[in-house]
Parts: sequence; structure tokens; C-alpha cells
Amino acid sequence: MRYYSFSQYCKEHFNRKLYRVALDAGFTCPNRDGTIDNRGCIFCSQKGSGDFAIPFEGQVLNREDFIYNHDDGKKGDYIAYFQSYSNTYGPIDRLRKLYKAALDNDIFQGIDIATRPDCINEEVIDLLNELQNEYPHKFIWLELGLQTINEISAKWMRRGYSLEIFDKAIKALKEINIPIIVHIILGLPYDDKESIYKTIDYLNKSNIDGIKIHLLNYLYDTDLGNEYLKDNTKYHPLEEEEYIDLVVNIIARLNSNIVIHRLTGDGKKDDLIAPLWAKDKRHILNMINHELKKRNIRQGCAL
Ligand code: SF4
Repeated sequence: MRYYSFSQYCKEHFNRKLYRVALDAGFTCPNRDGTIDNRGCIFCSQKGSGDFAIPFEGQVLNREDFIYNHDDGKKGDYIAYFQSYSNTYGPIDRLRKLYKAALDNDIFQGIDIATRPDCINEEVIDLLNELQNEYPHKFIWLELGLQTINEISAKWMRRGYSLEIFDKAIKALKEINIPIIVHIILGLPYDDKESIYKTIDYLNKSNIDGIKIHLLNYLYDTDLGNEYLKDNTKYHPLEEEEYIDLVVNIIARLNSNIVIHRLTGDGKKDDLIAPLWAKDKRHILNMINHELKKRNIRQGCAL
């Protein structure tokens, strides 16, 4: 493999592939409930970027409850992926109850919590530390949606927190040894190639453990989608070739110890306005692999 994939990581650490089960634990987000804003990030879907997530209130989940049926899933374990909205944003006792319910379930090898850096406070850090000690045989990962380090893009997308807050969250999580996966988005209107590579260089130095690379999707029922429907010349949804070229260059300059959990997103196809080529995920992955081979690129080779 030319890059450090999530499958490879699973093989090394668990001797099998693990699958995320996306959960919607009924949280909201400070960018949605009016604390910071009530419009959300400009691209955020009504489901808080958790379109396939299943409702979770701490009940015991079984394989039959999962939307995705992986053929080989029966042999492997699953990861409880708290995906929708900001999953550390709530009363601490509620967080404890939900995380423990997932950690107590044998079907889950660990939990993976998606949130915002400004929703990582001292109480949350103490709770994560407590649970790591209580469940030494399970893992706890954190996912943070940074998207870019470019402040103009961050303002445009209404992210609602500064890079300094991101750095503070990383430091606090690293002090208790929580692995961190960071999301970035390619195709933001104010991010050119150089600013994207600056984001990667920054992440290389930030001591993160994993990355998820997404394409900016223009979706129905989002502010971005509505703007695009009104005037489709205002923005430039990336072409497939542009996306592949960016991803391949990112792989070349990404530290080889950072696990790549995603090379493209997995949104609801019916909600996509543009770019429509993004519907064929298999093709995109094939093209990326083909390009890596053609240009003889391996992760970190440009460093
Ligand atoms: S932080 Fe996440 S859940 Fe909140 S508005 Fe932005 S994309 Fe949506």
C-alpha cells in the first residue's frame, strides 16, 4: 500500500478490519443552537453531518441494528462512532452514560467521538481520562473537524473557532494520550493549493494520529447548496482530476505515521447537487491509487 490506510492500521493493531457504526446520540452543536451561531457551518446538513447515523440513547445495540451490513463484519468488531453534531457538547453525566453504554457493549472494540475543539473542556478531558483507566482493553479516539488552517476560509464556512482553540484541544488530548483524527475539506472557495498544503504541513507538526480527507459537497437543504442553486457560477465545485491531484500531493507530503481514515467522503447521494462525480466513490479511490502508482508516490515521500 502506498499510504497508511485505516485498514492497514486495523490489521496491525487488531488483526482484522473494524467498522464504524455511526451513532446519533441526540446532541446539538454550539454553531447550531445559537451559542456561537444558529446557522451551522455553511455546508452542514440538517443531520449535523451524520446522515446515516442510527439513534443511540444508551440502549444495547446488536449487529441487526446496523444500517450497513458488511459481509465480513461478522468476523470483526465494530467501533461506536458518535458522529452527528458535537458529541462532547452536553452535560457531563449524560456524556459519561452514553460513552459507557458503548464501551460496555462487547460488539464495540472502542469508541470514536466526533466533536469541535471548542467543546473540549477540562471536564471532558477528565471524563476521557477516567474512561481510559476504567476500560484499558478498549480504545477512545477523538475526531476534530478543522477543515483548514486558512482563517479566511474558516470565516467563510462559519466554523466559529480559531486555530488557537484547535491547538489547545490537541495539547489537552495529547496530555492524556487520546489519539486524534482531524478532518480537512478540499475545494473550499478561498483555499488554493498552497493553503491546502500549509494545512497539511501544520497537521504534520501538530502531533495528530489520523486524518479524514473530504471533498466540499454542495448539498440540498444547506446554505451552501442554496447559494449554489441560486447562482452556479459563484463557486467552483472541484473537478475529479483536480481532487485526485490534490489528494495525491497531500499523501506525498503527509507524515508517514499519520493514518489516513478517508480519502473522500461518504455523503447521501440523493442530497448531492455538485460535484456529481463524487457519487462514484469506488472510481475515485481507483483513480487515486492509479495516480499514486503512475507518479510513484508513497506517503511522506515529498518530506
Ligand atoms: S461543527 Fe459540525 S455539526 Fe456543528 S455546524 Fe459545523 S459541521 Fe455542523
